[in-house]
Amino acid sequence: MESIPSDIVLHEKTRAFLERNHTLFIGGEWLEPRSNRYFGTENPANGKELAQVALADEADVDLAVAAARKAFRQTWREEITPAMRSDLLYQLALLMERDRQVLMELETLENGKPLENAAYDVDSAISHFKYYAGWPTKFEGSGIPVDNQHMVYTRREPLGVVGLIVPWNFPLMIAVWKLAPALAAGNCCVLKPAEQTSLTALYLAELIKESGFPDGVYNVVTGPGFPTGEALTSHHGVDKISFTGSTPVGKEIMKTAAASNLKDVSLELGGKSANVIFADADMSKLSESLTWSSFYNTGQECTLGSRIFVHKSRYEEVVDMLSKGAGALKIGDGFHDSDLGPMISRQQQERVLNYIEQGIKQGGELIFDSKVSVPDEGYFMTPKVFVGVGDEQVLNREEIFGPVVTISSFEDNAEVLERANASEYALAAGVWTRDISLAHRFASELEAGTVWINGYDRFNAAVPFGGFKQSGIGKEMGRSAMHLYTREKAIWVAL
Ligand code: NAD
Repeated sequence: MESIPSDIVLHEKTRAFLERNHTLFIGGEWLEPRSNRYFGTENPANGKELAQVALADEADVDLAVAAARKAFRQTWREEITPAMRSDLLYQLALLMERDRQVLMELETLENGKPLENAAYDVDSAISHFKYYAGWPTKFEGSGIPVDNQHMVYTRREPLGVVGLIVPWNFPLMIAVWKLAPALAAGNCCVLKPAEQTSLTALYLAELIKESGFPDGVYNVVTGPGFPTGEALTSHHGVDKISFTGSTPVGKEIMKTAAASNLKDVSLELGGKSANVIFADADMSKLSESLTWSSFYNTGQECTLGSRIFVHKSRYEEVVDMLSKGAGALKIGDGFHDSDLGPMISRQQQERVLNYIEQGIKQGGELIFDSKVSVPDEGYFMTPKVFVGVGDEQVLNREEIFGPVVTISSFEDNAEVLERANASEYALAAGVWTRDISLAHRFASELEAGTVWINGYDRFNAAVPFGGFKQSGIGKEMGRSAMHLYTREKAIWVAL
């Protein structure tokens, strides 16, 4: 296969999977698309086609939603107890551990990320299934004291059929961040992966089948936003859409969801996070984190600290620290000991280059651009650091989603708080200081769904994650996600 570098020895299961026909997974079966259409998925490290994948249209989505509804009514809700759900989720985690290498390889081939980063993603996905395997038997309702003539209690019930729409930057991990709590809460799911990265969602279907989940509990419809995503979002048989992706698409999804059947919607959207470094920051701790919190995943991560604010007394030091760190990053395909893989696509690469051009035209100064060698083929980009960028300028305002950060200096705390909050996004933020009072006060005043103090980009299945403002609606992970995928019912019993 031309798209796979000749010196790479893939796991035999990865090779076998790549060679098969990538149809739709509906009702526990692999089905040819009714649309009769397929599309190509490519390796962004060389731009060559990896596989052809089925393109689901309205009729295919309709079939998937019907299969999910049938499973919800007939088996998942009626026959499978909470303890059985726990066992199934845990069994799935074990099968993912068994096939960890296969999942990593598929993720690296299709997304381009270094194998080591793919390992982090797969392990995070496994930990989410294990964490949510504990919930089904422990998710209790409540009794409410009203008067002596009534007993009132509440139940949290599954929503029914949930549509999961995910992006390409962490294809498996983000799908599982949704899937694990949605299944634990008792829903049946239709997953639409991003059109750039369909393969791990399809491989997961094999593992779900092998784990013993009833047919129709997990369905996969592959294809782009139109027609596939739109068909799911507008479907009257879908009770909720859980979406992760860009803010403009999130807004479209809300409109379509409201105009169809007013289905529930939760949104994990874009970010433009501030990373604030005070004068007394521990520079050795910061130096372990700064390069990664700026450029991880080639900048294609929603939480990255793409707006760095540093006290003027440490400005030169931080510019130097980041330039040295970024300059040492190796760039190449994910199988060859690289730190940064390619951008996901030519289109994304061009989008980022366009932002850089606009940023320079608006007066931004490109103070550092890595000179490391970059492969000739594929969509590679070097990390870039800008200074002299105002809050209203494009490089500080727009989510660039590439290896581009800005550094600004500040003099006082009120000034930097205002600048850090001067974004329509509010997903995450970082604070670096040894002053414990300042750290907590500042964290409480920052407009961000997550704040990391003296660290960055930590995640755990037990900790709620999600944005404020135009970064989203609703919290994933932890107990919060069990609420995200259930609805509360109050029941009155006259005594
Ligand atoms: P995107 O919004 O272009 O696409 C996301 C998904 O939506 C894809 O599956 C796509 O096919 C689908 N889609 C597109 N148009 C649709 C429509 N009209 N109806 C239904 N589905 C549609 O985003 P992307 O380029 O895949 O991912 C990058 C974006 O995701 C960035 O903005 C990033 O910040 C965001 N993101 C957010 C988080 C978070 O947790 N907040 C995590 C990762 C990525």
